[in-house]
Amino acid sequence: MADDKKALTTGFGMPVDNDLNSATAGPKGPALIQDVHLIEKLAHFDRERIPERVVHAKGAGAYGYFEVTHDVTKYTRAKFLSQIGKRTEVFLRFSTVGGEKGSADAERDPRGFAVKFYTEEGNYDMVGNNTPVFFIRDPLKFPDFIHTQKRHPATNLKDPDMFWDFLSLTPESIHQVTILFSDRGTPRTYRHMNGYSSHTFMWYNKKGEYFWVKLHFKTEQGVQNFTGEEAERMRSTDPDHATRDLHEAIARGDHPSWRLEVQIMTPAQAKDYRFDPFDITKVWPHADFPPIEVGRLVLNRNPGNYFAEVEQAAFSPGNFVPGIGPSPDKMLQGRLFSYHDTHRHRLGPNYHLLPVNAPKATQVHSYQRDGSMRLDNNGGGSPNYWPNSFGGPAPDPEVAAPPIEVSGLAARHTYELGDVDFVQAGDLYRKVMTDQDHEHLIRNVASHLKNAQKRIQLLQTSHFYRADKKYGERVAQALGLSVDEVKRLAEASHA
Ligand code: NDP
Repeated sequence: MADDKKALTTGFGMPVDNDLNSATAGPKGPALIQDVHLIEKLAHFDRERIPERVVHAKGAGAYGYFEVTHDVTKYTRAKFLSQIGKRTEVFLRFSTVGGEKGSADAERDPRGFAVKFYTEEGNYDMVGNNTPVFFIRDPLKFPDFIHTQKRHPATNLKDPDMFWDFLSLTPESIHQVTILFSDRGTPRTYRHMNGYSSHTFMWYNKKGEYFWVKLHFKTEQGVQNFTGEEAERMRSTDPDHATRDLHEAIARGDHPSWRLEVQIMTPAQAKDYRFDPFDITKVWPHADFPPIEVGRLVLNRNPGNYFAEVEQAAFSPGNFVPGIGPSPDKMLQGRLFSYHDTHRHRLGPNYHLLPVNAPKATQVHSYQRDGSMRLDNNGGGSPNYWPNSFGGPAPDPEVAAPPIEVSGLAARHTYELGDVDFVQAGDLYRKVMTDQDHEHLIRNVASHLKNAQKRIQLLQTSHFYRADKKYGERVAQALGLSVDEVKRLAEASHA
């Protein structure tokens, strides 16, 4: 073999003499089990697929950096936010939610917006969506909700009855449903949408003062969406259009960017606020909590290998750094458990050692040991228990998050649905959307809801009516439903 050519080897490094012909007994076979190269090649191929993410299966990702543009040190001690001009490497994965790994990028769906900041204090993950709210506010409902967005257990088809039955029986979803069925439910590309933390998080400073925050990543490409018809066309002409767009834009040097803004609420404001500030079905109005700028995120490098870097990328809203912590948001609390758990299932207990998931700006010093696919030196001979008197890594109480006051009875507290749960969907319809937005919203809702049973259509339309009378009336008219019946149902649910 010429010196400049690499020799083909087995996975264990042995040179392979022939990769076209299996070893057989005679030219017509049968194949010999002693052809270990054949056996190894087939066996590895048989194991190429790992479990698909149960949600957010279809995605695309890229590397870049985050640069601080404004001083927020009075709110957080996070080192990566400590200085104007400071840059931190990031990896961002965009995704759709309900579809399988091969589904179309232009589906009507929320989009995932998950950022991993490789900071000097460990990896901080901001695992958000392109919408500032969510369908439900209790994690106990999440598996049921997702089942309804996926396939019917008997037909294996998407099922409008399941989809709308659950939503109509979960009226706190009305705000998110209104955003999803606006043209924001079909972003033109991943570059042309905002990202939101949706949840409230805690920021705390060096003095131990804390604040509640919501994060908004505003696209500097401008928000652009498909109409329902454009999205439908794109689904059939290029199911991978957003994946392609992201890759091609970065490859040609057109680096997409987002401006990070945060809304800040003090604990005193949170105590008296007119609704639960930790309820993820609601935004904090900008007039009450004006967004302040923090920095800018730029994507400038495509991954070199999709499986290694995007499929194996694992984010968790539980990956914090000192200066950032959780809030009591119940949905967030469920996610703090679920993300690590799903990655352990999908990738194994040592998934944090994979290069895309491992810290890049600091080193891990933990007492975790062993487990399948432990691919570093497993701590060598250093102590594997705490406390120890052999110089093992010690906890630093100085980085502790401030204590927060909680009280109440341990119970399954019901969340009473009230008028307050319809206000923001109504505000969005009345105050933010244009006439054209209304037209598209009604058309998008009607073209989907018409496939559900009539009684489900009626109940769901009564929720639109409760958000805004005109909104409900127009959906009823588009579906050929009795407005009086819709009104009666809306009034009954008030009682
Ligand atoms: P504002 O007028 O201050 O904010 C309106 C916001 O609505 C803007 O941030 C805008 O985002 C966003 N928006 C514009 N068109 C749409 C659309 N078709 N679908 C969803 N969002 C859209 O008012 P408020 O803060 O009082 O909020 C009013 C309503 O706006 C809320 O009830 C909520 O539905 C929606 N909204 C509010 C956000 C918030 O954090 N306060 C964030 C996003 C939506 P952009 O600047 O990107 O164009």
